[in-house]
Amino acid sequence: MPNKISKIAVMCSGGDSPGMNAGVRAVVRTAIYHKLEVYGIMRGYSGLIEGDIFPMDSRSVANIIQRGGTILKTARSKEFLTPEGRAKAYEQLKSRGIEGLVILGGDGSFKGAEIFSREFDIACIGLPGTIDKDIAGTDFTIGFDTAVNTAVSAIDKIRDTAESHDRLFIIEVMGRDAGYIALHSGIATGAENILIPEAKTDIEEVVQSLQEKEKRKKMVNMIVVAEGDDFGGALDVEKYILENMPGSEVRVCILGHIQRGGSPTCLDRFIASRMGYHAVECLINGKYNVFVGIKNNEMNYIPLSKAVKYKQHIGSEWLKIGKILST
Ligand code: ATP
Repeated sequence: MPNKISKIAVMCSGGDSPGMNAGVRAVVRTAIYHKLEVYGIMRGYSGLIEGDIFPMDSRSVANIIQRGGTILKTARSKEFLTPEGRAKAYEQLKSRGIEGLVILGGDGSFKGAEIFSREFDIACIGLPGTIDKDIAGTDFTIGFDTAVNTAVSAIDKIRDTAESHDRLFIIEVMGRDAGYIALHSGIATGAENILIPEAKTDIEEVVQSLQEKEKRKKMVNMIVVAEGDDFGGALDVEKYILENMPGSEVRVCILGHIQRGGSPTCLDRFIASRMGYHAVECLINGKYNVFVGIKNNEMNYIPLSKAVKYKQHIGSEWLKIGKILST
């Protein structure tokens, strides 16, 4: 590993998330403050392998803190999964004298960074940039707050029309492996049922609760389901309900990619700025191959080797709260 770092690069990898730009800005400006040379890498590990790398200065990150997406673009790279691909990536950094790499991404990107840092003398720092919030060791991930607020605002709107027509709505939110968006947006909008991958879905119980509510003349019901729920997505839930409660007024709304976009919330800009600053501090202080999280309002530095092994845990208490409050 390098003793002292004078050149670093920053990139985004995996799915984009609102607030990535604020993180890139913080990395670039903190690096310049410390008189480091700083480079941007376009399109994640793909751009790294192809050498799509350019020098950045303070002006390159002007007027981006409020913008969703990422000015560096992001990608998934099959080639980086291979030793040959990673060797090419290393050559691109080595030939430019870059010793430190900051990667904004999710757990997959951290896995890549962990392997890369074991194979080559490049100091890697991860910043948790994912709307899924499925990374253990941090209370926040960059983009979650914006995504979940987008979902809340959409579900509130759907409730207005559901109330007017006495309808059951099934709303699918993002989360292939993680139910955080569903759980938070479901509780925050008073959803009657919240279905997430981390808890086994008892679809019979869902139907029974709807039938019981029908008897009580509670006609408006909202089911929030994560796309990766073990029973299936919103369309599967709709099919089952229609088969078991024929004649029900059911509508499905799949929120999709609107959850990824939009101007980041204050919280996402703030944590991205704080984490980006500390990513560079880590490189300056020789704290290598960690990801920068925030736990109980303190910075938390988790070795990448540990980060790839653990998943965030969703407590059953939260689902219970959702259920009790929505009766
Ligand atoms: P999101 O949470 O938004 O899905 P992510 O970072 O988890 O983001 P992935 O597609 O899982 O997204 O990973 C991004 C990239 O990281 C992959 O395209 C690949 O290039 C690299 N990567 C993932 N896993 C590995 C691995 N085991 N070895 C090497 N590289 C990997």
